[in-house]
Amino acid sequence: MRRYKINLTLIKSAACKTQAVCGASVLKCRGCGASLSLMEGKRCAYCGRELDLKMYDWVITNYVSSK
Ligand SMILES: [Zn+2]
Repeated sequence: MRRYKINLTLIKSAACKTQAVCGASVLKCRGCGASLSLMEGKRCAYCGRELDLKMYDWVITNYVSSK
């Protein structure tokens, strides 16, 4: 097994008041109110509205791996 060092760049909205984990695995669509799972992607399967994930939890915007 090889090991890599990865530098992550994370962003999170200041409006997200909760601690490190916002419970982003269970979200509600702001458009239609449907319950969404991050496993289904960041777009509502019902109304197609895109979720702004950084409003809920840390979002990886960039990463650099060094061997
Ligand atoms: Zn929706």
